[in-house]
Amino acid sequence: MKLNLQLFAVPFRRTSKTKKRMRRTHLKKEVGAIVVCPKCGAALRPHRACAKCGFYKNEDVLHIKKEEEN
Ligand SMILES: [Zn+2]
Repeated sequence: MKLNLQLFAVPFRRTSKTKKRMRRTHLKKEVGAIVVCPKCGAALRPHRACAKCGFYKNEDVLHIKKEEEN
């Protein structure tokens, strides 16, 4: 397939590195919400049971066995 490029809108000049980077400063992934576990203080996502201690709403829902420290 052969395209006649004169039919398309063509950028007048190449976008500079700086202009490209300035535009892309807004293209970044947002960090999701993070809350602190009231039981053990670990950082976790809201409305989820804590992976460290297994507690959610002051209730042990995962029943994670505690590793004994030496
Ligand atoms: Zn916890």
